[in-house]
Amino acid sequence: MHPDSSLIADNLKAVRTRINRACRAAGRSPAEVQLLLATKTVPPERIVNAIGQGARLIGENRAQELIEKAPALTGLEVETHFIGHVQSNKIRRIAELASCVQSIDRISTAEKFDRVLAETGKRLDVFLQVNTSGEDSKFGIAPEQAVDFARQVSRLEHLAVRGVMTIGLLSPDPEACRPGLRRLREVRDHIADAAIPSVDMVELSMGMSTDLELAIEEGATMVRVGTAVFGRRPTPEGFFWNETLDRTTA
Ligand SMILES: *Cc1c(COP(=O)(O)O)cnc(C)c1O
Repeated sequence: MHPDSSLIADNLKAVRTRINRACRAAGRSPAEVQLLLATKTVPPERIVNAIGQGARLIGENRAQELIEKAPALTGLEVETHFIGHVQSNKIRRIAELASCVQSIDRISTAEKFDRVLAETGKRLDVFLQVNTSGEDSKFGIAPEQAVDFARQVSRLEHLAVRGVMTIGLLSPDPEACRPGLRRLREVRDHIADAAIPSVDMVELSMGMSTDLELAIEEGATMVRVGTAVFGRRPTPEGFFWNETLDRTTA
């Protein structure tokens, strides 16, 4: 096997072991937790490789990368989610290429998706992105707005609200992440309790390479892992997450 293939294989195996262990420790079934591979900056060959090792769900942050990699992934047994900030001029392509957009945090964005989807009649799953860390550099609605926001998005015929997502605190101390993870679970429960017609609050997308165990303990149904499988990225995280930077580089 090519050294990089065996690296990806080993890393994937290690991540799956971590997920299984965390589930066991939390008294949950590993079947309740899906693994999404965050593939930003990862070239298509390496993604295809991971799919060969059983990866079935990937997430892209930038429309441009989603578009560029799509041909290499055509026909493969993989589902692609969009997990980055949505630029409105890319909505049409994102709607075509992704089966779920996890980063809905503005009603205007949701409405644009709905209009584009109405042309083809396609329905798109969406998660609402919640800012659970209180840092204002991050995208996401405030937790207190979540129920109202879910209600607004639920009125859009071509979008199916199926979960919530958070990026959470970036901290070397995983315990510092726990309050944010817990907050997202509470938000999910509040939305579910509101029993909004056509909102099916099933997915809790949270937890990344460093805090996936905590996220599983706090109820995650989907963890999004990049670094632990593909290694470190050449770009600083702020490039993807910081609103100011994102606007100037867009
Ligand atoms: C990059 C990214 C991840 C994965 O982060 P790692 O620390 O590399 O595991 C998860 N979610 C989102 C939205 C990301 O952009």
